[in-house]
Amino acid sequence: MEKLAIFGGTPVREKKIFYGRQWVGEDDVKAVTAALTGDLITCGPTVLALEKKLCEVTGAKYAVSVCNGTAALHCAMIAAGIGEGDEVITTPLTFAASANCAVYVGATPVFADVDPNTYNIDPDSIEAHITERTKAVVAVDFTGQAVEHDRIREICSRHGLILIIDAAHAIGTKYKGKPEGSIGDMTCFSFHPVKTVTSGEGGAITTNDPELYRKLHMASQHGIEHDASKFVGGEPEGPWVYEMQSLGFNYRMTDFQAALLLSQLEKLPGFSARRKEIVDKYNEAFRDVPEIFVQKEIPESETTRHLYIIQLVLDRLTCTRREFFDALSAENVQCQVHYVPVYYFPFYKERGYKEGLCPNAEKIYRGIMSIPLYPLMTDEDVDSVIAAVKKVASYYRK
Ligand SMILES: *Cc1c(COP(=O)(O)O)cnc(C)c1O
Repeated sequence: MEKLAIFGGTPVREKKIFYGRQWVGEDDVKAVTAALTGDLITCGPTVLALEKKLCEVTGAKYAVSVCNGTAALHCAMIAAGIGEGDEVITTPLTFAASANCAVYVGATPVFADVDPNTYNIDPDSIEAHITERTKAVVAVDFTGQAVEHDRIREICSRHGLILIIDAAHAIGTKYKGKPEGSIGDMTCFSFHPVKTVTSGEGGAITTNDPELYRKLHMASQHGIEHDASKFVGGEPEGPWVYEMQSLGFNYRMTDFQAALLLSQLEKLPGFSARRKEIVDKYNEAFRDVPEIFVQKEIPESETTRHLYIIQLVLDRLTCTRREFFDALSAENVQCQVHYVPVYYFPFYKERGYKEGLCPNAEKIYRGIMSIPLYPLMTDEDVDSVIAAVKKVASYYRK
């Protein structure tokens, strides 16, 4: 048996590799520079061009760009009219923002459990958690895989709920041939550097509904309306008049961020293809490793994967998840865990949420780690990650 690096053996890789990394090229730098020397570096033409491009990519009628994915979710809550006393159903296996957005507007997040095979929110569990206070569902396309849209849509329609898709992981993903962004009532994206395309920080909301679009726009821009035909105060006194009609925020993205994202979106098809290639290699490599369970995909989802998660089959191993994680780190493969169930955090525990709420999510959490997945990885990088995972798994095999 090969000696693990953590016990003094030679690491599989010389240089540390992390679970995710942006790919910013010369073309991106040029695009940003051009936008920075324009007349308007915010509220300018590049933001408008970006929103048009986002409509093309997602197939949605409208897009609003914002300063990050969390702001996108907050705007969606405001546009949906969610507030005090309302309940919003989401998954615990996500970044905290998917639930926090409900708290921002005074509503209560309710956690539905996930499917043990796909790790996505389980439509039956959504239905089981609906009460007369439920107003919306925030369904997360976890790791980039589309949720079961048809079933979730049917449940939302039957109960009169607004369907918000948190597609922070899922730009480029399609469900039954339709791109994410045009399926839910509103879809939220994040363009943080670990996500598939980046603007540094950034986000967007897409929708097909003109009224939601108007509300999203206002929520992200101080609640201000510029269209005189929509003024509550009637005929304006002059061309300088705009109206603040609701309490909004300044969640704007700048034009130079929009330029970076526009340039990145040109490369999305290539990024998606490379991510798929790496996912296929991993799936193939781990098929014959019984200590590792690989996330399953539904055939309806044509996935641009953001994360590749391995789940340890702990009763086949002599180590803990922590020992496996540390051993991989010593081999210079730096994993991360996505995610600690949201209601495990002190903020939620203090508000009465208890461990045991979502048994499937909790069991998945105990065994998972995300291994490196990003388009800039070389084939040698991919092979070394596979070799490291196999080395550690065989060392700790029962
Ligand atoms: C990254 C992420 C967000 C938040 O996006 P930011 O741009 O970091 O604010 C929301 N939901 C999920 C699932 C995410 O992964």
